[in-house]
Amino acid sequence: MQLGLYLHIPFCQQKCFYCDFPSYANKEGLQDEYITALSSEIALQGGLLSAYSINTVYIGGGTPTVLPIHLLTNLIQTIQKKFKLTNDVEFTIEVNPQTINREGLYRLYEFGVNRISFGVQSFQDPLLKRIGRIHTADEARQIVCDAASVGFKNISLDLMYGLPKQTLDEVEYSVREAIKLPIQHISVYGLKVEEGTVFAKLEEQNKLFLPDETLEDKMYEFVMKQLPEFGFERYEISNFAKAGFESRHNLKYWQCLPYIGLGAAAHSCFQNKRFYNEQQVEKYIQKIKWERNAVAHEELLSHKDKVEEFCFLGLRKKTGISCREFMDTFGYELKDLYGDTIENLKRKKLLSELNGQIFLTSLGMKYGNQVFCEFLLDS
Ligand code: SF4
Repeated sequence: MQLGLYLHIPFCQQKCFYCDFPSYANKEGLQDEYITALSSEIALQGGLLSAYSINTVYIGGGTPTVLPIHLLTNLIQTIQKKFKLTNDVEFTIEVNPQTINREGLYRLYEFGVNRISFGVQSFQDPLLKRIGRIHTADEARQIVCDAASVGFKNISLDLMYGLPKQTLDEVEYSVREAIKLPIQHISVYGLKVEEGTVFAKLEEQNKLFLPDETLEDKMYEFVMKQLPEFGFERYEISNFAKAGFESRHNLKYWQCLPYIGLGAAAHSCFQNKRFYNEQQVEKYIQKIKWERNAVAHEELLSHKDKVEEFCFLGLRKKTGISCREFMDTFGYELKDLYGDTIENLKRKKLLSELNGQIFLTSLGMKYGNQVFCEFLLDS
């Protein structure tokens, strides 16, 4: 059996104003200790999971590239030594432009990283400042070109819309700038104001100035129409790729395939269980040091959990869910359980069906959460 491996690096140079990920600015002092703890966890889990091979690795965060390059390359070597990686492993690292240079990218490439995901969000400097990003648009353009020139052939870029005071022209400009770059994959997210962020505070004080619903709809429609015209097919609600460049690691999440997450706050899904590690960096380090295990919570997946996740994670993909696969997995027909729900959502033009696949229509993609709620079962 093959597994995905996720590693979490919880450090950032500065906290972006919209971000509620488990990542911290001003904890550089803990980097060495953290990498020591993470390396122990890798060694431990590599031993326990020696019967499995790893076909996707994803180093995310946080900003992995705030680590000095020698710490990062040591980490990569530890992964390669302790786990059995397949020859065709997809090895991704997240990069915030401005935290790495061409030389650093070259080192990552030499050490076996073969996919980069750049957080760019916009190509307008005033907007980048307004959302707390530390890089400029030019720095983003330059580093993406550098990545291609050192040899990376699988490059992804993140963009956002619905940002404070963002105009439709600005979204159009950013999308057009992105597709001029040598990239194969784009993720696009609409802003959601999350609790505990700078934006949540500004919203409370009525100082956030978000685009209204009509304008945000126009932004969304533009992105969804424009990217496929330039060869970026929408294969998941927020993800677009040129043929053959879909993220194999992220597809595991939506296909309910097993993955192991290591590091502070990292989540895993393995052997019918979901579990996650301590989120606080200090606690994570201590737990690994003294208990050799940093799991903070673990739960056994019930039949109900598995059925629901099969549906609402699977429906995120353009291809949706397969009635045959449902039958093979659970031993009864999808429509025995969800027949009325599916017919009802088809009538509302939110779902469609073709050759035994049930999938979201373009309207359904827009109102995905509403559809997913319909697949929740009574306990
Ligand atoms: S760089 Fe990424 S992880 Fe760090 S604060 Fe910004 S959005 Fe969050």
